Amino acid sequence: MSKIKIDKVEINFDGSPTIMDLAWRNGIKIPGLCYDYRLKPYGACRLCQVEIKGLSGLHLACNTLAKDDMEVITKNDEINEIRKIILDLLLSDHPLDCVICDATGECELQNLAYEYGIKSTRFSGGSHNWQMELSSSLIAKDQNKCILCGRCVRICSEVVKATAINFADKGFDTVIDAGFGETLNSGTCVFCGNCISTCPVGALFPKSRIGRGRTWELKSTRTTCIYCGVGCQLILKTKGQELIDVVTNVYKPPNYGSLCVKGKFGMDFINHPDRLKMPLIKKDGTFVESNWEDALNLVVNKFKELLLKYGPNKFAGFSSAKCTNEENYLFQKFVRAVMKTNNVDHCARLCHASTIAGLAMAFGSGAMTNSIEDVLESDVILIIGSNTYEAHPVIAYKILEAVSDRGAKLIVIDPRKIFMTNYADIWLAHKPGSDVAVLNGIMNMIISEGLQDDDFILSRTEGYEVMKENVSKYDLGYVEGISGVPANDLIKAARLYGSAKNASIFYSMGITQHSTGTDNVLSLANLAMLTGNIGRKGTGINPLRGQNNVQGSCDVGALPNLYPGYQSVNDPTIREKMEKAWGTSLPTNAGLTLVEIINAASSGEIKYMYIMGENPAMSDPDLNHVLHALENLEFVVVQDIFLSETARMADVVLPGTSFAEKDGTFTNTERRVQRIRQAIEPIGNSRPDWKIICDISTRMGYDMAYSSTSEIMDEIAALTPIYGGISYSRIEDEGLQWPCPDKDHPGTPILHTYQFTRGKGKFHVVEYIPPAEQPDEEYQFILTTGRLLHHFHTGTLTRRIAGINEIVPFGKVEINPSDAREIGIQKEDEVVLESRRGKITARVEITDKVKPGVVFMPFHFYESAANVLTNAALDPIAKIPEYKVCALKVYKYSD
Ligand code: SF4
Repeated sequence: MSKIKIDKVEINFDGSPTIMDLAWRNGIKIPGLCYDYRLKPYGACRLCQVEIKGLSGLHLACNTLAKDDMEVITKNDEINEIRKIILDLLLSDHPLDCVICDATGECELQNLAYEYGIKSTRFSGGSHNWQMELSSSLIAKDQNKCILCGRCVRICSEVVKATAINFADKGFDTVIDAGFGETLNSGTCVFCGNCISTCPVGALFPKSRIGRGRTWELKSTRTTCIYCGVGCQLILKTKGQELIDVVTNVYKPPNYGSLCVKGKFGMDFINHPDRLKMPLIKKDGTFVESNWEDALNLVVNKFKELLLKYGPNKFAGFSSAKCTNEENYLFQKFVRAVMKTNNVDHCARLCHASTIAGLAMAFGSGAMTNSIEDVLESDVILIIGSNTYEAHPVIAYKILEAVSDRGAKLIVIDPRKIFMTNYADIWLAHKPGSDVAVLNGIMNMIISEGLQDDDFILSRTEGYEVMKENVSKYDLGYVEGISGVPANDLIKAARLYGSAKNASIFYSMGITQHSTGTDNVLSLANLAMLTGNIGRKGTGINPLRGQNNVQGSCDVGALPNLYPGYQSVNDPTIREKMEKAWGTSLPTNAGLTLVEIINAASSGEIKYMYIMGENPAMSDPDLNHVLHALENLEFVVVQDIFLSETARMADVVLPGTSFAEKDGTFTNTERRVQRIRQAIEPIGNSRPDWKIICDISTRMGYDMAYSSTSEIMDEIAALTPIYGGISYSRIEDEGLQWPCPDKDHPGTPILHTYQFTRGKGKFHVVEYIPPAEQPDEEYQFILTTGRLLHHFHTGTLTRRIAGINEIVPFGKVEINPSDAREIGIQKEDEVVLESRRGKITARVEITDKVKPGVVFMPFHFYESAANVLTNAALDPIAKIPEYKVCALKVYKYSD
């Protein structure tokens, strides 16, 4: 540990931070208009000049490293005079229209001018008068305000790697040239808004914020992003009931100030006029507005009646990965303790059920092993089945930082040419569904070249010899035949991963959403253990969770076979513990999983349902079958914030609140339990979901009375060993990563450091099994589905954001040029996509992002609902459906 004095304040530090970073992190604000903690030192504005005792002259704090025993003086007469001149020069070509400027109060130039007492400029000369640029749907640019600090240019290229912003022209006419009119697909702006977050003066500004409130009128509420599992920390800026802007804190994990388009611009759904404001009851096929009393009485009376008529196992509940831990906990408690069934599940079944199953089998714990930040310590990173840049953008920024700035090597295994392949040293474009063959082939090569970690295998694992014998069958020719991956590329990937000091694996739904999803995860676990890449910084297996709280809703027991904390419902001791805590008897058998519930509804085995915040009528595979199942139900209650495709099919719709209107916690993909905080009052007559569940439960005769969500978390902690030490007071600042078993435990950033949760890590024998449906004469293509950067899941939220919809208004189907020629279609043609389960139409994008024979389609768009086509074939262990591969016919649409 070293120490430094800045303005007589003694600061201890590790590593080699700059003086500027150290000062800002410790609340000492040395002026710096070209400085941002997220960026590399630049030294352009010269405002950060400081005196260093014992050294002659002044030094730039932003590019001078702190040294042990250094003494820094940040202000004296000479320094102040220099700063005044610099500020004066900047103001000489800056509009002094602070009285009407939206950035007033948060403008760094204005604040420094005030601090240094500059009332007007001493310098006269030319000045500019550019037109404000408002052509982008999301970002406004006022070149007149720009001070050419270069922060936007640098954040775009250094952090986001979009390089959409550049300097243009020369000298006095230099401007910022930003490609805000274009999209990721044309290789430029991704509308992440990080340029706005770093702009010190308001030259770049959210278009929707203009004229809607001065800084001091806005309330700030720190919370967690509602979209993906990264769990970015946000600050909601609200005025009254209106959301005005979203900003961040650059010093807080996990995102350290960075966001993607959804986090920055995707929150206007909160105030959207379509928000449900009153309960709805369907009468003669039409919804009529009701009041809470009537709606809740109807729900409770029907539940009681049907419980009596059919018994508990004809009931099922879908909980929600969009809702908080507290709400999911109460929901599963309601289903188990009140409805007396374990038929409770949620969309984790559709995205990472195979992760939970596979990693639990191999390691004893089914979660991301490492922290996001750890990737900076990796020297090789393997991404497989994850379109990281579009689905988990802020993690992609971190991976790209490791690759670009720290020299890490990147292997991408993905059938599509995704953004990350631009940075890959090796890209294996395998055939969808051939992951096990490719991974077995890589392991076979690693073993044949002696690159396995014998010490790790011997001391930390079991089952190696049989696994080794199994993968020995997967020689290069065999693997190439199955996967299409050239032998040489496979060798290169095996050597690179096998020789790494620290190698990490990142994966997502491209691995899990297969009928062999658990096998795929087990293969990755085999690969990590084979090379000893587990239990240290920069290593590990990192499943990237899709929804904001899919990790948490699993953690707190919204699963048919597990109580909170992954405690088995089949274990009588655990059941007894829960019965005692909840004061009631509990069902003994594991419940049905999500797709099994839909099948049971279709066949009449499930008769009534309570669905909170899920949209199976868009998100589940084989949608025609799902619609039939929902229609077949006798009584359906849907709790949501919009009238989703599923809500339209309900008998009663209860209006819940968005994340901005309630307190609670989400758990992100790296197991970090983080707060969400209420920023505005519930919209209309909506109510927080946890209060609705409590109300229904109490009316059903099982008292649920909590005064706050913090009290619910205390109950979770008391019953859930991995959350034992979690409380609101402890997670106030940066959250805590589970396992956190007691109040003194600091949380666990890395799992399996000394031993695996199950003791020894277990190698499994995994054979390649082809996908459930293969192309044939009639259905000649493979359809694979996924996400786009700008939209999320079933589109319920992002498709209500006008600015985002202007950029990506609809989904296109990607087809390789050679296939397009064969089918006889041109760019933008409408095509029919037909699988054995249904057909849809969509506009075509002809692109070499997909290989011949493969077709890609996003699933966010109800007009071209890709899940009409997908296959509900299940992984036998995790019961996750095979979204990623089905056989497809494609032909030109004609009226
Ligand atoms: Fe939100 Fe995920 Fe984007 Fe972060 S990366 S802002 S959590 S959607």
